[in-house]
This record gives sequence, C-alpha cells and structure tokens, in this order.
Amino acid sequence: METSQQLQALLLKNTSGDVFTDLASRGRYATDASIYQTMPISVFIPKTAEDIVCAINIARELEIPVLPRGGGTSQCGQTTGAALVIDNSTHFRNMLELNVNDGYVDVEPGIVLDHLNQRLKKHHVWFPVDVSTSGQATIGGMAGNNSCGSRSIAYGNMVHNVLGIDAWLSDGQPHAFELMQHASGKVLELGQFVQQLALQHRQEMEEKWPKVLRRVAGYNLDVFHNQNEKPYTSDGRVNLAHLLVGSEGSLAYFKKLRLKLAELPQQKTLGVINFTSFYKAMESAQHIVKLGPCAVELVDRTMIDLARTNPAFKKTIETGLKDPQAPTPEAILLVEFAGNDLPTLKQQLSSLVELMGDLGLAGSVVEMIDPQMQKNLWEVRKAGLNIMMSLKGDGKPVSFIEDCAVPLEHLAEYTSALTEVFSKYGSRGTWYAHASVGTLHVRPILDMRRDGAVKMRAIAEEAAALVAKYKGAFSGEHGDGISRGEWIEWQFGSNINQAFREIKNAFDPSNLFNPGKIIDPPKMDDTTLFRFPPSYQVIPIQPVLDWSSWNVQNNPLTEMTSAPGSGGDPAQGFAKAVEMCNNNGHCRKFDAGTMCPSYRVTREEKHVTRGRANTLRLALSNQLPEAGLASEEVREVFDLCVSCKGCKRECPTGVDMAKMKLEFTHQYKLKHGFTLRDKLIGNLPQYAHWIANTPGLPAVLNFRNKNKFVANLLEKLTGISTKRTLPNWTKETTFRSSLEEEFGLVNLTDLPNSHKPVVFWVDTFNGFFESENVRAALQVLKAGGFSVHLLRKEKGHYCCGRTFMSTGMMDKAHASAKELLDVLMPITQLGIPIIGLEPSCLLSLRDEYLVMGLGYSAQELTQLANNSKLFEEFLRKELSHGRLHLKLQEAKQSIQVHGHCHQKAMDTVNPLLDLLELIPNAEITLIETSCCGMAGSFGYEAEHYDVSMQMAELSLLPKIRTHANAIVVANGASCRHQIHDGAERQALHVARVLAMHLKEQSFSTSVFSINV
Ligand SMILES: Cc1cc2nc3c(=O)[nH]c(=O)nc-3n(C[C@H](O)[C@H](O)[C@H](O)COP(=O)(O)OP(=O)(O)OC[C@H]3O[C@@H](n4cnc5c(N)ncnc54)[C@H](O)[C@@H]3O)c2cc1C
Ligand code: SF4
Ligand code: SF4
Repeated sequence: METSQQLQALLLKNTSGDVFTDLASRGRYATDASIYQTMPISVFIPKTAEDIVCAINIARELEIPVLPRGGGTSQCGQTTGAALVIDNSTHFRNMLELNVNDGYVDVEPGIVLDHLNQRLKKHHVWFPVDVSTSGQATIGGMAGNNSCGSRSIAYGNMVHNVLGIDAWLSDGQPHAFELMQHASGKVLELGQFVQQLALQHRQEMEEKWPKVLRRVAGYNLDVFHNQNEKPYTSDGRVNLAHLLVGSEGSLAYFKKLRLKLAELPQQKTLGVINFTSFYKAMESAQHIVKLGPCAVELVDRTMIDLARTNPAFKKTIETGLKDPQAPTPEAILLVEFAGNDLPTLKQQLSSLVELMGDLGLAGSVVEMIDPQMQKNLWEVRKAGLNIMMSLKGDGKPVSFIEDCAVPLEHLAEYTSALTEVFSKYGSRGTWYAHASVGTLHVRPILDMRRDGAVKMRAIAEEAAALVAKYKGAFSGEHGDGISRGEWIEWQFGSNINQAFREIKNAFDPSNLFNPGKIIDPPKMDDTTLFRFPPSYQVIPIQPVLDWSSWNVQNNPLTEMTSAPGSGGDPAQGFAKAVEMCNNNGHCRKFDAGTMCPSYRVTREEKHVTRGRANTLRLALSNQLPEAGLASEEVREVFDLCVSCKGCKRECPTGVDMAKMKLEFTHQYKLKHGFTLRDKLIGNLPQYAHWIANTPGLPAVLNFRNKNKFVANLLEKLTGISTKRTLPNWTKETTFRSSLEEEFGLVNLTDLPNSHKPVVFWVDTFNGFFESENVRAALQVLKAGGFSVHLLRKEKGHYCCGRTFMSTGMMDKAHASAKELLDVLMPITQLGIPIIGLEPSCLLSLRDEYLVMGLGYSAQELTQLANNSKLFEEFLRKELSHGRLHLKLQEAKQSIQVHGHCHQKAMDTVNPLLDLLELIPNAEITLIETSCCGMAGSFGYEAEHYDVSMQMAELSLLPKIRTHANAIVVANGASCRHQIHDGAERQALHVARVLAMHLKEQSFSTSVFSINV
C-alpha cells in the first residue's frame, strides 16, 4: 500500500475527521494567495484536538510532513507544501476563556479575527492586530505569520499581542509556551537552548538584525536580545510563545492561543490628505506620525482609479477626495486618530490640517468625523490589494517584495528608486498601505507564464540592495514562505541562519512541520512550484457565452488591456475569467454581504467561490483526472452554488461564478443529458399556458400540495422535495385576464403619443402564479399617471429564458431571449422605458444578455440595459425627476425588507427602500441577509432542501420571526416562497405594499390583503 493510502486508512480508522485524497480536493488546498502551487499529499479536517494529535503521530510514523492551515490567505507560499494539510478553520473556532479584567482571551487557532472581535465588542475590548484579511484570517494563521495590522504603529505586530501558546511539538506532546520564568521541562529546555544561541550571536544580531518595527523574517531569536524599536514585552520579560510567532507552522502546531486585549476606542476621526505628488506623500509621512495617529495608510492613484471603476467601491472612495470632478490625486493618506474623547480627536485632526498647511499643502485634507463614512473608506483601503488584482490578462501584480520596510526618513527615496527599478524591467508598481511604519505594499506586474521568473529575481535583487542601503527589513509583514525564504540568510548572514537551523532542529528534530519554510527553503523562482508555470496550458473549449472581454493581455507599463478576444486563451476567455481568482479568500466571509451563501452554511472549501474557481482552473488546465468543464469534480463544486451573483459584486477581482455556472451547466448537460426535473423546470414557460388553459388541470396539479402520497411519488420521479409546497396553479393568469380594459391600458401604436408612456413586461412567475402583483403594479403606475402598455404575445408570452438558462438549455434560452429582445429593442429605440417585476428576470437583460450572442451590438444592448428597469427603480427615477406624486396613506405596520440576491448584486435595493420611504410614518428595516436559500429551483430540489433552509435560517427567517406584525417585502418570487415555507408569513412585492397604501384604491381589497 502506498504511504498516502496508508495515511488515509489510518486517519479514517483512528480519527473522527474528514480525509480527502482526491486530486480536486487536494488541488483546492494546493495554493494560498501566493504565486505558488504544490499538491498536498492529503487534506485532513479534524473535528477534535485528539484528531490532530493522532494525525501528527500517524504522519510522523509515516514520515509525511504536516502543514497546519487557517484561511490559507498567505501571500508567500508558506501554506503550500507536499504534506498532510490540516485545516483548523472548520472546527476550531471557539473563544475558550475571556478575562476582561486581566486583559486576555484564550482562543482556538481556527477562529477568524472579525468573528473574535465581534464577540469582544460588547465588552468594549478588541484584539487590535487588524489585518486587511480580518474577515478570513484565523488567529492561528496570524500567529503563524506574525501578521501586522494597519494600526501597528499603535499596537505592534502579532508578536506584541500574543501572551501564550499551547502547542504540540512533533512528538505529539502538548506544551505551554509562556513567560520563561514560568516554564519548566521541555519548554524551559528549549528556551534555554535558544537563549544560549542568542548569547552566542549577540554581536551579529546587533549588526545584522533590522531595527524597524516591521521585521517578520526568520525566527525571533532576539526575544533574548531585543533589536526591535518596540520591545516584545513592556517589562522586558521573555515570553517563549514569541519564539513560535512567525514560525509559519515549522516549529509547533498551535492548539490554543492567549491574546492580549486592548480597550476598544469609542471615538475616531479620520483625515484624508489628497496629494498631487506621490513623492510629497511619502516625504510627509515622517512628520505626520509625530501627531500620534494610530494609522497612516497610503492609497495611490492607480488604486483610486481602479476603485472608481468598481461599482462596490466608487461612491466610497470618492468621499475621500477633495474634488471628485478634478483629476485623481497622485496619492491619498488616511490618517486616523482614536481614543475616547471626541474633542481631543478633533483637535488632533485640526493639527493635521495645520501641519499640511505648514508643509505647503493647505486645503488638502478631507476631515471625516462620521463613523460610518470612516468605516466605509477603511473597507476600501482594506480591499486595496484585491482591487489591484482585478487587472485582466496574464500579467498580474506579483507579491515578492511587497512588504519591505524602511525607516520613514528614507521612504520617499526608497519608493522613487524602486519605481525606477520597475520601469527598468518594463513594469510598474501600485503603492498602498502602511506609510506609518514604512511598509508600503507594491507589486510589479509580471507574467509568470513567460519571463516573470527572470524579472522577479532581477527586481528582488535590486530591491534587496535598496533595503540594505536604507537599513530596512526585506520581509516586513507577510512572512517568508517560498518567495522570501532564500532571503533570510541574505538578511541575517550565515551564522544567524545557522542558529535558525538549530532552533528548527531543537523544536522539530524529525523535520515534520512545514519543511522547506524558513530553513532550507527552495528558490523563489523555482518554476516547478508556480501556479502558472511556463508549461501551464489551457485546454480548448468552445463556450456558449461570450467571455472575450476577459480574453485580453495587459501592458505592464501602462496597465492598458488589449482588445477583447486578443488574449490567446484556447477557452476563448473563459479560462482567463476563472484565473482572475487570486486565492485571497475574501469569499470566506460572513459579513453583511451576500457572498458566499454555500460557504456560510457548509464552511467547506469546495463550496466557496475560491474553491470553485480553483477546481475550474485545474479542470481547464488538465490537472484533474477528467479534463474539461463537464467533469464530476466540477459538477460537485457547483452543486451548492445558488447563482446568487454575490461574487459578481463582492469578489474584488470580479469572479462571476453564477455566469460560470451557466457555462458549466450547459456543457455538462450537453454531455450527460437532461433529467426529468430539468425538463419540468426549464420548460415551465412553454407548458404553463397549456396547464392554465386546460379546464380542471390547475386543480389536479394543486392536489399535490395537499396530498403527501402524491408529493412523495413526485419526489421519487422528479426529485422535487415533498417538504416544499409548489406554486399554486390558477386559470386566472395575467396572460388570460383582460387587464387592458380594467386598467385603461394603451395600445403599442398609441403609446409614443401618450402621456408618460411605459411598457410593462410580465415574467412567467408573476404572470402565472402571482398575477395580483401585476395588478398592484398596474394600479400604482396608473395612480402615478403613466400610460401603460402591457406587452402581449398572440400565443404564449414573452419570457426572458431564465428557467432555460438555469437548467443548461442555452439554445432555448437563446431563442427566448432573442424573441424578447426583438420586441423590446424597437421600444428602447423610441426611448420608452420597459418595466418588469421579477429581479432575476428583468436583470438578466442587463447581465446575461450582454454575453449571450443575441445578434445586437454592444451599444444596442447597453441602451436596452439602461432602458430596462425594475418597477421600483423606474418609480425611484421618476421620483427623483419630480415626475411621481403618489398619494399614500400612513403606515399601520412596520416594514421589513429582504433584498433579492440579484438586486443586491446589481445595486438595486436602495430604490426599493426609497420608494417605501414615501409611505408616511413608515418604519423600514432592511434585513441584513445573504441569499434566502431558495434561489430559483434550488430550494425545491430534494437533495438541496436542508442546505436551502440552513441558508434561510442564517439570518433571514430568525429576523422575520422577531417582527411578527411587520409587513415583509421581498421582490423575488422564490424569496417570497422561502419566507412562506420557513416563517409561515406571506411576503409581498413592493408593488402590492404601495398599492395597499394608495389613498384611492379602485380594487377589491382581497388583492391587497395580507395573510399573516
Ligand atoms: C488581500 C490580502 C491582504 C492581506 N493583508 C494583510 C495585512 O494587512 N497584514 C498582514 O499581516 N497580512 C496580510 N495578508 C496576509 C495574510 O492574510 C495574513 O498573514 C493572515 O494572518 C493569514 O491568516 P490565515 O488564517 O489565512 O493563515 P494561513 O495562510 O492559513 O497560515 C499562515 C501560516 O500560519 C501557519 N499556521 C496556521 N495555523 C497554524 C496552527 N494552528 N499552528 C501552527 N501554525 C499555523 C501556516 O502553516 C502558515 O505557515 C494579506 C493577504 C491578502 C491575500
Ligand atoms: S473568488 Fe474572488 S473573493 Fe474568492 S478568493 Fe478568488 S478572488 Fe478572492
Ligand atoms: S454565485 Fe453565489 S453561491 Fe455561487 S459562488 Fe457566487 S456567491 Fe457563491
């Protein structure tokens, strides 16, 4: 039996954890946020501490290395290796003990920083090492890397904030690493050994050790002879846990960490200085820090411009600009003052304004007092790297010298000199981050598939010379890993490097833990370790959607991209779209956004956007057993993707997995054929008329909702869950009703000459199952004085093709879309607005239609997209132009709003809220939810029912239940159904809520009654 098979067998037999040995699972753990990739031998997800000890012992016996992993967001390759990779982030997420009085908290290594701080908030304390990846970085990983936050000038690095670590050594024995004075046994022995090494190398340490705050390379030998401007401990005592911080999983496996708590500042002010010269910004940093800010962070022009092109960041970044209409500043510095006394902080802000005046930059500071505005701007700064990574093409900003730290007085010269180095090698860098501590992030654009390796080494050597000249640190934040490992000896000299080796041998004599990191590292430019080596090849595929806008190359100097379709991708741009994922792990978040609901529920790497992108990349580059899109491995990762489009908006590099799922589903179904359920769901728009028009048939079909036996039978035949009610069939559909007369609707021919003309397009779901929404919308439009034409088709109805798209029937989707476009385009050309109710249907005109090859020019499609509005968007626009005056009654109930995922992805939730604000005295709350879990047909599918409900229970349903008397507004048909099934409440389309508040109603009240 092979050793890896033995490993799997033993782990399965002796632990309760999950073991993965298949290529796709290992491939998802083969990368971190660096340029490297190495297949793990196996992946292990332990459930208990005993599982970990057992795994360590088994691996040692089999001589298989062990690599502990948190969020896998490291940038230097320290989390990649041919090892047994053990993921702590799934089950080791607990806060173990909180002692606010003594100022510490004990945690398990897999807890995420933001989650910890969320729990600490109510005690007015926090853990202040605020890394940009705070939503996904684990405390174990942060300690492993000696991570540093934006506010390190005030709080120090990770090492300054760890009080103790309980860890297993490679013999599987647990030990407590803490103050040396309390140490005994093995830990004391190790401490004394390192102490003696430090004594031996005292003089060399003084000569060679970088003196800047930001030095994270090598092992912390200087705990016994501090070389840092900030001592390890305030009283000079030696804490042996500090030897483990920054060890990158190579000395011991952390079980529990004791962290130092800081008081949570109650108030903050922010000054955003706009610079017209980058050099001046760099020069100013040394003066600004004297004012005592807790952060001084840089964002340069390129990054500001990139943020302005991203819909999620545009508005926010512009709040930091003195004049958004003027040319973009060359740089901005975000200067934060924090404390408990607002007047003092305002005073500090005024001092900043004064200082800038003294430096010749009067009027350059945007003063921000509002906490929410500050928070939003910090979010953009935190997303800085990700924003930069959104550059399309094979050349990517590469991390290898990106956190060199230099003393502040040399910052301006250093950045200028390095910029010259970049241009010498035909590249340029985008600068951002920690100006306060001389650690500026910069990544030259390199193409690792071509000459990237050679250029990387050349630039690294010149950067190293500059770091040496200015007496800085080569590795000042992100650790050593593979990209900086070989520079440890360069930085510290061979003797200290030998001392590091002896430390490794003493702690880990069997070289079990993360070998090749810190000691005996490979070369940074070893192309066999690259994720995109020169041998990387994409298999040819012919996609059904148009991905050509991704199929481009970029110019590293100008960052301009070539024409769509010119990138040379054998997958016509699809592979390049997939490769936009840089593994930063931002999708592993749980904040107010939508992305990624399937990860929120499962916490499994294969069910997060990153896992999906990695699997696709491996499949497209022939690294899985079955190449191509239609493989089982790819099917598995898409199984729980609910196509919410959360990633389209929230993934900083714009990985649009919902669109990729369309491509996959089409290719998969081409190969494997359609199931009965696919046919039932996909063809619904086609057979729905026949059902509605066949006397008695609607009632027969509705019987399924009342009879368990029939429901069970149907589940067996089709896989539609018995636990779900199905939408009620009725013969009174919109398509059969004579609404024209009832509402005084207008003919298409008369429309252009009518007052305030609009075309109202009714989708399949509202038309067949909720025609009361259509009637309500018509009533509101009429009350608003609009002339409405209802789009009719002689036989059947116009459908956007959504059900065809989601079941992979792209040819039918294409035909439907084309038919709809052919009728809508002339209306658009007349400038008459087109209105729809269902977000997933109407918004496909602005999204999927742009890449479906429908025979219209990009300009025509854009015109149509701009002209097609959701009901609420249209009315909101009319309102802002003073063209809407609805007379509404006072609200009698509070209103809770749940935004459909596609509304959130396309930024159309606010219009809905604005409209509801028109209702006098309305108390409106937007429920912070991810996906409702129903997601079209997903929640109806028997195998997805549980996950669907778990998604809904994450926050939507509990929040609805706490407001039993509120009106619930949900514009998505499937969201309304989920709310009905999960909370037994009838949610309403906004059209109905507005209609029921109209002062003059010409309808029977039954249309507007709410069954609560
Ligand atoms: C966009 C972006 C922004 C970033 N911003 C910052 C920043 O502001 N500041 C900063 O310092 N870093 C930053 N980083 C780097 C990275 O996010 C941090 O280093 C983070 O702390 C790593 O956490 P993680 O859970 O992902 O660790 P991982 O990458 O999973 O692991 C990091 C190291 O710790 C080791 N490790 C993990 N768990 C254990 C354990 N239980 N026992 C022993 N060793 C363990 C691993 O073996 C590995 O060597 C950024 C990265 C990205 C992609
Ligand atoms: S999918 Fe997007 S958010 Fe997730 S890791 Fe990749 S780039 Fe980051
Ligand atoms: S579409 Fe939604 S579920 Fe699918 S990967 Fe993106 S965020 Fe996750």
